[in-house]
Amino acid sequence: MRPFRLHRPESLDEAIHILEKEGEDARPLSGGTELLLLMKQGFASYGNLVGLTRIPGMDRLEVRKADGALVIGAGVTHRQLERSLLVRERFPLLAEVEGKVANVRVRNSGTLAGNLAFAEPHSDPATLHIAWGAVLCIRGPEGARKVPAREFWRGAFETVLQPAEVIESVELPPLPPNRLGAYSKFGMHERPSLGVAVFFTCGEGERIEDPRVAVGCVEPHARRLGEVETALQGKCAADVEASLSDIGAIAAGCVDPITDLHGSREYKLHLVAEFTARTLKRALDRNGEGRP
Ligand SMILES: Cc1cc2nc3c(=O)[nH]c(=O)nc-3n(C[C@H](O)[C@H](O)[C@H](O)COP(=O)(O)OP(=O)(O)OC[C@H]3O[C@@H](n4cnc5c(N)ncnc54)[C@H](O)[C@@H]3O)c2cc1C
Repeated sequence: MRPFRLHRPESLDEAIHILEKEGEDARPLSGGTELLLLMKQGFASYGNLVGLTRIPGMDRLEVRKADGALVIGAGVTHRQLERSLLVRERFPLLAEVEGKVANVRVRNSGTLAGNLAFAEPHSDPATLHIAWGAVLCIRGPEGARKVPAREFWRGAFETVLQPAEVIESVELPPLPPNRLGAYSKFGMHERPSLGVAVFFTCGEGERIEDPRVAVGCVEPHARRLGEVETALQGKCAADVEASLSDIGAIAAGCVDPITDLHGSREYKLHLVAEFTARTLKRALDRNGEGRP
């Protein structure tokens, strides 16, 4: 591996300044579980890595008083999210999903922000965050901006981040008790071959309101399936339960997977149909439990 200089800035402004100054020869470094692997394997080469995790405030993990949103600093690892009592009690679905990312060694160093920024198509948190309605707080030379997760990815390994911009934190809105959610993943390799996230509000008369269904891993980036959401909107929970396979078929009709190591196109379409139905059922089964 080509030698590189490891910068340890003491503030985010300093980190951004270094990234701006070194340009294409610099990258932010969080847990390094992706970046260092790429560099070791010779797929990428940078003369400057800018460590973010030790910057004060990057380890922030708290519920914001004003609106109850969970604020996750960019230095927070998957393992911290999996084990945090606060997250387990107030955002249990996040803890559940984070506990199934990769293996414990990767979760120990890998950060949520690094996962999202890398934009690898087989990301569990990306699918979850899109459907949940997360917001990414970004900082760069031009200042700070917020981007909804659903607008963050442009393609495989491609995001809206501009040169020298970094993710500073991720915000997850709180889920009221009647907002139900579930996430399912499936795969036989290290990374998932499919991820499906479902959220909806169980309104008056057990009607589904504001449904959000996202599918990840089978296309260049995770995305919401508008046709499935339209099919669910306003339906009675019991009617949805009776038509799960039809809804699964609509989901399969929305995606355009390619054949690769994770399976053939036909196999992936089958998985999307099956797991959309199963994930919806899991969310419906959570009705009455009080929280997802
Ligand atoms: C064996 C293995 C199995 C895995 N399995 C899964 C899985 O099951 N599910 C899943 O979702 N993921 C999986 N992953 C991916 C894993 O979650 C990521 O490797 C990890 O979260 C990346 O975080 P990091 O902090 O190590 O990022 P780094 O390697 O430090 O950085 C990754 C990229 O993001 C950039 N970056 C880092 N932080 C920021 C920031 N704050 N702002 C802007 N850019 C930034 C870096 O410049 C780099 O380009 C797996 C990875 C491995 C190696």
